[in-house]
Amino acid sequence: MGSVTLNADLHCHSVVSDGTLSPEQLAARAAGNGVELWSLTDHDELGGQERARTAAQANGLRYLTGCEISVTYLDRTVHIVGLGFDADDDTIRQGLRATRGGRELRAREMAEQLAKVGIHGAYDGALRYVGNPELISRTHFARFLVESGVCRDTGEVFRRYLTEGKPGFVPHRWATLKDAVTWITRAGGQAVIAHPARYGFSANEEFALFTDFKGHGGGAVEVVTGSHSAADAERYADAAREWGLAASRGSDFHSPDESHTDLGRLPDLPRDLRPVWDLLADRIQ
Ligand code: AMP
Ligand code: MN
Ligand code: MN
Ligand code: MN
Repeated sequence: MGSVTLNADLHCHSVVSDGTLSPEQLAARAAGNGVELWSLTDHDELGGQERARTAAQANGLRYLTGCEISVTYLDRTVHIVGLGFDADDDTIRQGLRATRGGRELRAREMAEQLAKVGIHGAYDGALRYVGNPELISRTHFARFLVESGVCRDTGEVFRRYLTEGKPGFVPHRWATLKDAVTWITRAGGQAVIAHPARYGFSANEEFALFTDFKGHGGGAVEVVTGSHSAADAERYADAAREWGLAASRGSDFHSPDESHTDLGRLPDLPRDLRPVWDLLADRIQ
């Protein structure tokens, strides 16, 4: 299991958060694409873990428990992937429940703001795409706005409506970095900084993020992910070396129609890096 060339895909989403496929469909797709070690990492929610583990076994995949925790750090949203933790741990379960708790109110406020710019019915519209009532996300609004012809694709919806400064953006306070890392590591897992190139932090802010993350016990960074370019991957491979962090690899697959990177179809990690699954050998199921 230790090899960097193992086809590990340790980041993706099902209908339990903002993906469009079931855990079973994802497991079958991952196996079909040659994935050997898999993790379902739904946002702020463990509701798909049992199904994913069972489906992984049925498809001959090794499995690591997973989730992607929404964190507010320096007033921005950062995602921390947790891998290999105990999914029955009470502290992480309660922490995630609290983290996803404000989503419904936030969604109602998003819909009110969108109504003010002439887009009506967005709450009910988004709800039609939601698989888990506790997890209404911006992605579900984006799908509704594409369906209703307001935008051509979900990327355009985020650019025009759902990001900071745009009419449908409602700021939200998620978990703290310390809490997210601590929940994961105390439950026996490894915390991973997800897609670091996406945050748009300055060099100083990023230094602070890595310093605090390590200080709280975080152990890995996503180097190869669907949302990194080749240059981003090189940059964060260097960061992994400099910070003494293990490296993770994951497509961040959400949907066959929306995701440009399919499950398991990613470059290998650079050979000199320590893969995060090396640190989790005894947590693989
Ligand atoms: P939320 O947790 O409700 O704030 O929604 C965040 C989700 O929106 C992310 O997990 C992505 O799936 C999706 N997302 C964020 N930014 C973009 C973007 N620019 N284009 C498409 N999807 C995005
Ligand atoms: Mn998502
Ligand atoms: Mn993310
Ligand atoms: Mn993700």
